[in-house]
Amino acid sequence: MKVLKFGGTSVGSVENMRSVMQLITDGERKIVVLSAMSGTTNNLVEISELLYQKKLMDAKEAIKKLETKYDSVIETLYASESYKQKGKKHIKEIFDTIKSYTEGEFDQNGENAILAQGELMSTGMFNYLLQENGFKSELIPALDFMRIDAEKMADEKAITEKIKPFIEATSNTDYIITQGFICRNIEGNIDNLQRGGSDYTATLIGAAINSEVVEIWTDIDGFHNNDPRFVENTSKIDQLSFAEAAELAYFGAKILHPSTVLPCREKNIPVRLKNTMNPSDSGTLIDNKPMGRGIKAIAAKDGITAIKVRSHRMLMAYGFLRKIFEIFENFKTPIDMITTSEIAISLTIDNTRYLNDIVPLLEKLGEVEVDSDQTIVCVVGHNIIHEKGFEKKIFKALETVPIRMISFGGSNHNMSILMHSDYKKFSLNALSKELFE
Ligand code: ASP
Repeated sequence: MKVLKFGGTSVGSVENMRSVMQLITDGERKIVVLSAMSGTTNNLVEISELLYQKKLMDAKEAIKKLETKYDSVIETLYASESYKQKGKKHIKEIFDTIKSYTEGEFDQNGENAILAQGELMSTGMFNYLLQENGFKSELIPALDFMRIDAEKMADEKAITEKIKPFIEATSNTDYIITQGFICRNIEGNIDNLQRGGSDYTATLIGAAINSEVVEIWTDIDGFHNNDPRFVENTSKIDQLSFAEAAELAYFGAKILHPSTVLPCREKNIPVRLKNTMNPSDSGTLIDNKPMGRGIKAIAAKDGITAIKVRSHRMLMAYGFLRKIFEIFENFKTPIDMITTSEIAISLTIDNTRYLNDIVPLLEKLGEVEVDSDQTIVCVVGHNIIHEKGFEKKIFKALETVPIRMISFGGSNHNMSILMHSDYKKFSLNALSKELFE
């Protein structure tokens, strides 16, 4: 069985939902994972913010506005009065839930519950659309089988066990619809797999049921060899290895949530990126076959903060790096890039939530320098570490760019270069010219 995931834009309008219906209804039984309609999760984040700030009137107004939008979608989505009624009832229940959080204290659990409503709406509406059009479809509730553990990591074992009865119970159904992004945590409360997490839901389900393939449908035709928002004439990549795709997703290629390929990589289940606007295109295939040589793609990740800790106590000392890493670990702040010299270490983070707590602790170990607005530009290709001459091309392309850090050799597949974000667009274009033309 296949697992197909459609993102927010793919279900972002009545017309697009109908296109998805046409795309999936080929008679082959499958699981369909949906995001919320585009913009909805952002709206729900805004509503939660207003509730945290106790701006109740503004929150109620924002809720009303969103409800009106959904009411009008329902009016045009269904042809028959009976399905319009079903749709309206579904939307009303969702908005009653959202409104219930405008009373009493608002906390993280409230926010998580509100954020989950976008996917609950899109899947409910889509399931009715299929049923109204005579297709055999059924909803399976992600909140009943998607789980994260105490560390907020996906609990693959629990997911595999819990989804089984739902798959068995729907053996006569052609199209099994479920929500991306949402799950329950160790306390049994509603939680999520972080923004953009619907891709990850799809591959977790794919791995749990041993699907033949996981298809991630978006609005571009796959991974490109550079960021099309900043570089003209990028071209689509036909195939990537799991390792390459993971590096690219992690270092900024927006098309995929960074954890997406992990579950499928372990089980060797191919992942294919497809374009809803151009379904006949083969997209990008991600599997375990490293094909081709040389550099395949360039990506950039913004919003990076670089931190340098300099200390003569580091010279010939052991245990120094551990002390530094421990500080970040205690604040659950992941480190992306690292470079060291005899007396200093530079590292990067993208989550600055605890920066003000971290810096004073680092200052106990040495002199600290913090640079914000940095960008990691990442060059990816299979085993490029063994290729000759490409480093020269990279440095030639970036000869006028002040480089803050370089990381190479950590994996066989990438070189990462840190620079001020002002140099990103220039660098992406210069690298494209030097490496691909
Ligand atoms: N709806 C969620 C978001 O906007 C999850 C997703 O679309 O993947 O982040």
